[in-house]
Amino acid sequence: MPDKFINYGKQTIEQDDIDAVVEALKSDWLTSGPGVQDFEKKISDYTGAGYTIAVSSATAALHLASLCLLAKNDQVLTTANSFLATSNSILYAGAYPLFIDIDKYGNIDLDLAEDYLKKDHSSKIRAIYAVHFSGKTPDYQKLEYLRKKYGIYILEDCAHSLGAMYRNGTKAGSSYYSDCSVLSFHPVKNITSGEGGAITTNNPDIYHRCLQLRNHGINRNSESFLNFEMAFNEDNTVKPWYYEMTELGYNYRITDIQSALGKSQLNKIDRFIIKRREIAEIYGIAFQNKKFIQALYPFDKFSAYHLFVVLIDFLGAGISRTEFMNNLKAYGIGTQVHYIPINKQPYYQKLGYGQEYLPNTRDYYLRCLSLPIYPELSSEDLQYIINKIDGILS
Ligand SMILES: *Cc1c(COP(=O)(O)O)cnc(C)c1O
Repeated sequence: MPDKFINYGKQTIEQDDIDAVVEALKSDWLTSGPGVQDFEKKISDYTGAGYTIAVSSATAALHLASLCLLAKNDQVLTTANSFLATSNSILYAGAYPLFIDIDKYGNIDLDLAEDYLKKDHSSKIRAIYAVHFSGKTPDYQKLEYLRKKYGIYILEDCAHSLGAMYRNGTKAGSSYYSDCSVLSFHPVKNITSGEGGAITTNNPDIYHRCLQLRNHGINRNSESFLNFEMAFNEDNTVKPWYYEMTELGYNYRITDIQSALGKSQLNKIDRFIIKRREIAEIYGIAFQNKKFIQALYPFDKFSAYHLFVVLIDFLGAGISRTEFMNNLKAYGIGTQVHYIPINKQPYYQKLGYGQEYLPNTRDYYLRCLSLPIYPELSSEDLQYIINKIDGILS
């Protein structure tokens, strides 16, 4: 066994990140304080979005966004090639995902999605949930077009793509071409707050609703109080202790401690993404014209490269994926499969999913593997990984 293990992903925590967290711990606010708002403002400034609501995870963000966009029994076009949380959030809202096949980048195929919209005579399709798989943004013009032409909502799951750009240079997470976007600050993602997530939007209604849902459905704005008798004194002044719960909300708050870390990390996002792109470019060159292995897509300077996915012809190479992964593991190299198609999960099968005709998703799943990529991966380690892969495949 080698003396160290290279995981497929890893956070980068530096001294100033630690200092920022210590400072938050010494401050008056551990949660719901000014640090959260600072973090939100910084996310808005970075992405270009008008509003940001920071929450306890991207899963929480997806849940709240889904409560804003969806009603019971609505249908949502989405992809099976994502983490479970994307389509789970649709179920949380009492709506149903329809799994659409993927394009050659691993993203939802928006042309197939349009075919569904054309055939949707019951008008049950309310939204498209588009995942920026691996950190590559979808075609923003197509998103805009579908949103306008079919009057549907678009949610972008940007858990992989903070730091990525659309073809016109605007940033992932801006929500310029959608109703809202969702970010993740889990340690494996492009920046981290330990656990954490955010919704970004340019729609003030979504913003205010998510703020309220994040905190138990509580409203503290006296202008919109409903129960006058309870809320106001006889001289029309507000009772100082009063608040109102107007809908069933949650505790999805993020702490000031997490926000301090997230804010410090956001200072470094561009440096982190440059490193990820450098690694992706080196992998790309290494696997060019190789037998049995290829990058999922040619080097893309707009991608945030949360993942570096290769497609391997395991059958041709005469090795199973299990053997391949185990061999690399014995060399101290961690790899992962992103993702097991969600529609094949037993829970989804119990709901009647699993038999969809998704040939690209199936072929992709049989061949994909995510190689190590993170800012602190050294060029020696990178060369070591490439050499070991070459060795196994030859
Ligand atoms: C990680 C991830 C999520 C969930 O993020 P959490 O912050 O862990 O809740 C959702 N969608 C995608 C595509 C992800 O990769």
